[in-house]
Parts: sequence; structure tokens; C-alpha cells
Amino acid sequence: MKGSVAVLSVGDELVLGQIEDTNASWLARRLQAIGRTPGERRTVGDDRRALADALRALASTHAAVILTGGLGPTLDDLTREALLDVVSPCAALVEDAAGVEHLRGWFERRGRPMPASNLRQAMRPPNARLLANPHGTAPGIGARFESDAHACEVFCLPGPPNEMKPMFDAFVVPALGDDAHVVATAALHSIGLGESALAEFLGELMVRGREPSVGTTASDGIVSIRVRATGPRATAQAALESTVAECLTRAGNVVYGRDGEPLAAVVGRMLAEQNLTLSTAESCTGGLLGAFLTDVAGSSAWYMGGAVTYANERKIKDLGVAAATIATHGAVSHETAIEMARGALTRFNTYLAIATTGIAGPSGGSDAKPVGTVYVAIARRDGDIFSRRFHFPGDRTTVRRRTAHLALACTRFLLLGEGARSLLWSEGEAVRVERT
Ligand code: AMP
Ligand code: MG
Repeated sequence: MKGSVAVLSVGDELVLGQIEDTNASWLARRLQAIGRTPGERRTVGDDRRALADALRALASTHAAVILTGGLGPTLDDLTREALLDVVSPCAALVEDAAGVEHLRGWFERRGRPMPASNLRQAMRPPNARLLANPHGTAPGIGARFESDAHACEVFCLPGPPNEMKPMFDAFVVPALGDDAHVVATAALHSIGLGESALAEFLGELMVRGREPSVGTTASDGIVSIRVRATGPRATAQAALESTVAECLTRAGNVVYGRDGEPLAAVVGRMLAEQNLTLSTAESCTGGLLGAFLTDVAGSSAWYMGGAVTYANERKIKDLGVAAATIATHGAVSHETAIEMARGALTRFNTYLAIATTGIAGPSGGSDAKPVGTVYVAIARRDGDIFSRRFHFPGDRTTVRRRTAHLALACTRFLLLGEGARSLLWSEGEAVRVERT
């Protein structure tokens, strides 16, 4: 079967933003992995009319619709009724004998009486079939929608992800999987350039309609280049790799990893390869940098630990920052960042030490040092200490995450021999002092 596939998520809780629609993104990724193009995605609340309208519209334009949610036993779950309105508007729901048996067996095996309301879950439009759910009471429903010259396969799956995913594999993959035709994707992660600066390097690779397609997304300072190739399995992967290679050539060494590889893991690998160790001295990131580093399995080989020194007193007592430095220049300054890094380097006895100090907000900013001003200093045993001033846009959480990412980026560039390189959101030249 050819043609695009729509994903329809059902539930008031999704429309109201009370829970994340993880089903739709999972389905979109899985569809591409089996060679199908996700064509459209909609979210509709628990309203029979709105649900039927959305389903009819999607079924009229796509080759298949995968709907999730609204199959529970309670009266607010209306997917069965809406499906009936679309595939057999003049009929009534019928009780499915095998479905009733599944429900009775489900409750019997658990030694519980079956609430009468659960019988609703064995109902289906007369021209539809139930799809067995081994992990819950709600069976799915499969149906075919036909209008004029167009036909569409509709798969209604239960909302809970642990029930939906195995049912997708059991019923949707065999019906929609297309071995000959695949969508191959790759993501290249970069840090140091803004999205538009990176786009300039990529140039016409990003033109709409190019095959393979190239796009960018940004999150907390990390800009990802997303490459997507569609076509016969034999050629799509090769086309993908050749565009990936072209992107790498154009973007240069701002690209640090591929397909979800964390920046901290890349830094860790560089350290491990050279047998080097790292420690941290964190103020505004409050341990976030240490958390990123220890997210990496095996990080104890190169990350020795760190100090979270939030109060000035702790910067002085735990890291040996001079009280006069803080009094003269402030806790958020090149001078303090440099002494924090130097302190961690000697106290943790590591090859490298990263220090962060800044104003994450929402209060605490001034004209000279507005909210988002952060200093990142890196000391190393056999070289100068670099400190850089950044100004990060965003709220408190964003500033902290961007700080941790850019601190890792500074470390990576230092290890690449480009310690003074200018980076996204950095202000002025890097300050360089002797370690002493
Ligand atoms: P329902 O099938 O509508 O009764 O959904 C049951 C439960 O599944 C909901 O309360 C959610 O916790 C979960 N759920 C439903 N839709 C989604 C979705 N699109 N993404 C993630 N979880 C969902
Ligand atoms: Mg629901």
C-alpha cells in the first residue's frame, strides 16, 4: 500500500496539555522506520462530532490513519462511536463475541468481577474488526474507509503507550510496512554556531524539495542538522550518507556527534582517549554540569567529581577563591570563574577543571551584568586558563542548560586546540591567564 499516513491523537488531556503526546512522535518515527511517510498529525478532544470530523477528513486524504486513545470503558471515550459515524453512518455498534470473551477472560484471570461498563469495549462498527490487546482490556479496532475512488485503512489503538506500541507492531506494521521503500534519517549535532549561521554554511542543501532533505532544529544551544532520504532501501541509505558527508564538510568541527550522541559523552571519549581527567566547580548550574557528565556510562574513568559552591563562602572555603576577588569583581566575573577553576584543578587533582558562575535569573541582574550573564572558565594542568563571558537568552532553566552545554563545548574546543574560539552567545574575547 502506498501513500501517506496520518496520526490522530484523541483525548481532552492532550488538547489541554495535561500530558505529553508521546504516542504521536513515537508513531511518526516508527512509520518512517518502516518506510512510510507521516503526512499529517492532529489532536482532538473527547467529542464525538469533532472526532468524527477529524477522522473523516484524514481518511479522505491519506492512505492510512492511526488513531490512539478514546477506547476506554468510560463514557468520555468516544472513538468507537466516532469511527461508526465515519465508516457506517447508518448502522449501530455491534457486540463482538470474541471481544466479550477476551474481556471476561481478562477479569477472570485476575479474580475480579467485570464491571458492566467494560462491555462497551467489545463493541465495534459492523464492518470493522477488533484488534487483540494482550496488555489491557481495550481491544483496538481496524476498519476500512472508502469514498469515491479513495480508500483508507484506519487503525484505532488504545492510548496507554505500553499497550499501543506492541499493537502497532502486531497489526499496523504487517499491513503498512513497505520493505522496498524506506525513509532513512540522520541527525548531526553541533554546538557553537546559531541556527542561521549554520544554515549559511549548509547553503542550498537546505532548499525545500531537495532529496535527501536537510533541515535544522535547535535546543538549549545545540543545533541539529536533520537529513532525511526517501526511496528504495538500496539507494536511500547511500543518498543519506552522501548528504551527511556533504553537511559535515560544510559545517566543519562545530559538529560533535550523530543520532542522539550526548555532548558530555563526546567530551568524555576525548578525555579517555588521552587518559585525561576532569573536575567541575559549579555555581549557577548547581550540579547540572556534573549531572550531564555522570549521565555518561563509565564516566568515573575521566570525571573525578566537583563542588557545587553556590554561596560566596563556599567558593572561598571549598575552592580557595580569594575573598578580595569576590569583593572587588563580584561572584559573577572572569576573576572569580578563573579562581574557581584553578581551585577545582588543584583540589580535585585533575588535568582539566571547568567552572561556571552566572546570573540565571529571574532576579539578580544589573545593567553591567544582566540576567543570563555567565562566566565559564577552564583550567588545565599544562596550559593557560581560559575564561569566557556569555550572555544567554531565556528563562532560568534555559540559561542553566545552555550554560552546561556551552561549558562542555568550551571544553571540547580546548581539547581540539581552539580554546579561544568565539562561540554562540559569547561576549568579547576569551580572557587568558597563566595558571601559576
Ligand atoms: P484512553 O485510551 O483515551 O483511555 O487513554 C488512556 C491513557 O493513555 C491516558 O490517560 C493517557 O495516560 C495515555 N495516553 C492517551 N493518549 C496518549 C498519547 N497520545 N500519548 C501518550 N499517552 C497517551
Ligand atoms: Mg481518553
